[in-house]
Amino acid sequence: MEISVVPLPVDKMKAKFEDESHLGFGKIFTDRMFLAEWSTDKGWHDARVKPYEPFVLDPACIVFHYAQEIFEGLKAYKWEDGRIALFRPEMNARRFQRSADRLCMPEVPEELFLNGIEKLVSLERDWIPGMPGTSLYIRPTMIAVEPVLGVKASAHYYFYVLLSPVGAYYAAGFNPVSILVEDSYVRATPGGTGEAKTGGNYASSLKAGLEAKKKGFDQVLWLDGRERRYIEEVGAMNMFFAYGDHIVTAPLGGSILAGVTRDSVLKLATTLGCTVEERLIDVNELMADIRSGKITEAFGSGTAAVITPVGKLCYREECVSMGQGVGRLTQKLYDTLTGIQTGKIADEFGWVHFVA
Ligand SMILES: *Cc1c(COP(=O)(O)O)cnc(C)c1O
Repeated sequence: MEISVVPLPVDKMKAKFEDESHLGFGKIFTDRMFLAEWSTDKGWHDARVKPYEPFVLDPACIVFHYAQEIFEGLKAYKWEDGRIALFRPEMNARRFQRSADRLCMPEVPEELFLNGIEKLVSLERDWIPGMPGTSLYIRPTMIAVEPVLGVKASAHYYFYVLLSPVGAYYAAGFNPVSILVEDSYVRATPGGTGEAKTGGNYASSLKAGLEAKKKGFDQVLWLDGRERRYIEEVGAMNMFFAYGDHIVTAPLGGSILAGVTRDSVLKLATTLGCTVEERLIDVNELMADIRSGKITEAFGSGTAAVITPVGKLCYREECVSMGQGVGRLTQKLYDTLTGIQTGKIADEFGWVHFVA
């Protein structure tokens, strides 16, 4: 499909950030966005890169009432040689299709997803920060925009992409997080939408997150929705536990988000000489294995922070710690993954996707 470019008036261009060390996350947006529309009669049409501006939407739109919405998250990196690299964007394209299917939304063809992102990122290349750890965060989103209050799948959708220069997550070095194992609220159940990247999953998780914050925790670790016994995932991260060089993570049973970083960690860890295992992890066994020192490291994986070390884990009345500082494997995985993403380490996997 042809992607047109709506001119950006010079007086609409924003001043670029001056200080790359204080970008934060998702607070600044670039001058342009990508937008394509889908309707039952026309299918996908009117794909264009246009000036970033608010939508004018009917307050009755389905997305506002019944949360028919999905999104993605990936990053563009500016390499030292000036090239722009995306990390496994095909995985995001396919996951977006699976999320769309679950929410009864039209699939965005992989080519439209990738071409839209590439065209937008290419035009906005001056917005990609260059300091170590910084990147351009890419947020593809789809919303249901038919204005009708009857509960049904919309007949009209917007697929759009926003870009946000983001700062180094660990500007001051790795910060191990403290995590509360959530014992009453659940995030997802088998047959639900846990596997889809949809806003509703986040809306329903806010309460547990807020209560955990009040108790001094950074994040909550979700247990399975049926027995509240098996480890699932944390906020927007998949979880890993290292028994020495043996790495364990929860299986993708339908209620866990299939992270691109998760998949990359599993593949990378094998080449670093680790064994990996996807299996059910009982929370009682987990606590016992951390307490006894069998588990040597714990970390989360996700696009935003790549790898997040876990320092402390609390379940019911008990708290266990992972030992001092950042584990060897956690550090190695972080260094290698970010090294591949930024061109400092050779990509043996074919994960890097350059923007023309
Ligand atoms: C996006 C997300 C992740 C991480 O996925 P990545 O592709 O690695 O960024 C994990 N869990 C949830 C709930 C998510 O929404």
